[in-house]
Amino acid sequence: MTSHTPRVITRSDPTEIRIEWVDGHETVYSAQQLRAICPCARCVDEMSGVRTHDPASVPAELTQKDLTMVGNYAISMQFSDTHNTGIFPFSMLRENDPEPSA
Ligand SMILES: [Zn+2]
Repeated sequence: MTSHTPRVITRSDPTEIRIEWVDGHETVYSAQQLRAICPCARCVDEMSGVRTHDPASVPAELTQKDLTMVGNYAISMQFSDTHNTGIFPFSMLRENDPEPSA
């Protein structure tokens, strides 16, 4: 078990996902933040790794639904802009923590 393992994942609101990690740290991601870091092939060029989707184009009021586990290492969801191909590994989510612990 590493700190990149979630203990509890809560979709408390259509605009946010809350993850409580095994080390006790808690993170809240807005749908907008998650959409902006979407690592899927439609958002990031697979060959170059360059982001082709502009994070600035994500509306602040974006919501998500259909939160599902992908194996035991990631989550996926459908955003209100209809995008649903993103798979968000927990390691990536923890590394993109908007409020990392000191
Ligand atoms: Zn994507």
